[in-house]
Amino acid sequence: MKLSHRISHITGGGSDGWDVFYRAKAMIAAGTPVLELTQGEHDIRTDPVILEAMHAATLAGKTGYSPVQGDPALRAAVAARIEAATGVPTTPANIQITPGGQAGLFAAHHAVCDEGDTALYVDPYYATYPGTLRSVGAIPKPIVTRAADSFRPQAADLNAAAPGAASLLINTPNNPTGVVYDAATLNNIAQACIDHDLWLISDEVYDTQVWQGTHISPRSLPGMAERTLVVGSMSKSHAMTGSRIGWICGPEPAIAAIFNLANNTTYGVASFVQEAALFALTQGDALEEKIAAPFRRRRDLTLALLAHQNVLRPVPAQGAMYVMLDIRATGLTGEEFANALLDAHHIAVMPGESFGAAAAGHIRVAMTVDDDAYAAALETLVEFAQTLVVS
Ligand code: PMP
Repeated sequence: MKLSHRISHITGGGSDGWDVFYRAKAMIAAGTPVLELTQGEHDIRTDPVILEAMHAATLAGKTGYSPVQGDPALRAAVAARIEAATGVPTTPANIQITPGGQAGLFAAHHAVCDEGDTALYVDPYYATYPGTLRSVGAIPKPIVTRAADSFRPQAADLNAAAPGAASLLINTPNNPTGVVYDAATLNNIAQACIDHDLWLISDEVYDTQVWQGTHISPRSLPGMAERTLVVGSMSKSHAMTGSRIGWICGPEPAIAAIFNLANNTTYGVASFVQEAALFALTQGDALEEKIAAPFRRRRDLTLALLAHQNVLRPVPAQGAMYVMLDIRATGLTGEEFANALLDAHHIAVMPGESFGAAAAGHIRVAMTVDDDAYAAALETLVEFAQTLVVS
């Protein structure tokens, strides 16, 4: 039977970018130990205090259907958190709870793109972006950034791509580059959205992982609250990746429309998960800092370990749980490097090419194993890269 064009074309026909990851998984399944520095998954599990709150919620009967827009108390807590961080007045009517940030990205684009609309995104990009845009029937169009600009989108490129587009998707702190957009970059983005009447979808799932600079939510810039949908998640901030809990924050009419989508797709998020999320948000900064601390430490470790050489050059590592390394001095592509590293040393990293043409000649290293294993892996990476240059 024929499948829809929309679903058959989600991957765009090419590879989904996860080939090295799948190869590493196959090696592990066949009994070869592989150090995985691929996925953005913490090396700690969800904190037991959050799990206890979840357990208590299940025993208290929070196992039935939940309000589809999200539990009112959780929506209020998310709204208060966003208002405190940005100064933008935010109420529960601005919040839709979603089963994770990914579902939020899908729903946000579904809300603002019609079939055939152009949806802009910044290259390098998080691997699902083009597929997410295609899955709502939009036509993905990359805004290519350059290593020389620390992969920040430039005004000229934004304005060249914007005419006729419906939306622009950005992500700061950024996966895969680790770059945090500065005020000038965000002002350029806001101006392009206003000048060309675009919706801005702002993926802020790494907002608690900032090592240098400050996270600015573009919803707080003049004229932007009415045209911005912020996607948030507790996956990274609270190590709750498996719980699937996140949100969209935006103008009331957009949130009301997204409720209709949720009513006909996810039909809500598990009540006991929402209760645990509410508990986690009321624990304040200390818990979030505890969860972010290993990545801050490993980011500092990375800079120290790479300081004495220039074969692997880090892109400014300002936030998120990854470092992106320029490996062009080895003469290999990111894909060749990642595959050769996996074969020679059983260390799996993501090729830059998995995140778009702009990241060619780079690799992304997830800082997601304990400090000693991470430091040893980086030292191996340096030695391996140096052998490539010499040979
Ligand atoms: N956006 C970015 C940039 C991500 O890296 C991820 C997950 N790795 C997500 C969104 C989705 O996260 P989740 O669905 O777990 O909230």
